[in-house]
Amino acid sequence: MSVKGEPIQIVKATDNHTFELDEERLEEVLLRPDVRNKKVAVVSVAGAFRKGKSFLLDFFLRYLNTGGASDWLGSDDEPLEGFTWRGGSERDTTGILLWSEPFFCRTQSGEEVVILLMDTQGAFDSESTVRDCATIFALSTMVSSIQVYNLSQNIQEDDLQHLQLFTEYGRLALEDNDNISKPFQVLQFLVRDWSFPYEAEYGMSGGRKILNKRLQMSDKQHHELQQIRRHISSCFDSISCFLMPHPGLRVATNPHFDGRLKDIEPDFKEQLQVLIPFLLARENIVLKEINGTQITCQELVEYFKAYIKIYQG
Ligand code: GDP
Ligand code: MG
Repeated sequence: MSVKGEPIQIVKATDNHTFELDEERLEEVLLRPDVRNKKVAVVSVAGAFRKGKSFLLDFFLRYLNTGGASDWLGSDDEPLEGFTWRGGSERDTTGILLWSEPFFCRTQSGEEVVILLMDTQGAFDSESTVRDCATIFALSTMVSSIQVYNLSQNIQEDDLQHLQLFTEYGRLALEDNDNISKPFQVLQFLVRDWSFPYEAEYGMSGGRKILNKRLQMSDKQHHELQQIRRHISSCFDSISCFLMPHPGLRVATNPHFDGRLKDIEPDFKEQLQVLIPFLLARENIVLKEINGTQITCQELVEYFKAYIKIYQG
């Protein structure tokens, strides 16, 4: 089954480090008559380039496209499509991509809501690009209800430092926060190529172990590290971590790999079937809230415009 839609670059970092929002294209998606007045869940995947974000998002698309049917993962020989292998050089632009097709789902209370997918990426190779990334990460965290922070191999100290910078940017921007609700909603650490399953098992429970270890505060710790940990915990309603196995050498190194399931390790596929429903199933989906109130797609457009202005200075 082919996936309808395409990635649209809605936010772009320009050469002189300012940010552009493509309002027209954003509105095309969010102000559609069948979309604008519905509540919305925004699922964003963020992190550095070439760490398998788009690849993962293509499985999100499969899941949403089949409405989470039991065989959503698809057949063995079907090439993967969606965010990957499209858009040419745009893939390397620091910015935010939105999937052009909103997905509809009925929550447990029977209300029809919209799910949007965002691919967010940046390069961390110089001081100015780190600043760009912080802005992009902050923006995507502000407009999403679930932020997946995609990391390679482990949660490192500098991943946490980046996260602190990102969230500080976001928090400063949200001045009118009511101070009762936390500024952001779900933060989902996603560790790719986890290679110590005997130390902490794949999935959510192993992830909890690693996260607790990394976020634990002890008296012995340097003051600055404690500060980072306290800050991150204070920014999100909920924080969890998922450990993904390596998808296999064909995925990682074969230039002709086109996403077929038969080329992917069974462990990886098994964990995809845990992770994705955990994030996207209708009984789990988290609706976007601003200051504790669920917002509609139309309201999201207004917030998006207001937020980008903050960073345009
Ligand atoms: P993005 O830049 O983060 O969106 O990365 P892509 O999804 O474009 O993937 C970059 C490369 O990594 C591709 O060759 C993928 O086949 C490969 N890849 C995808 N997922 C994984 C993973 O979990 N581990 C490894 N090692 N490689 C992956
Ligand atoms: Mg990508």
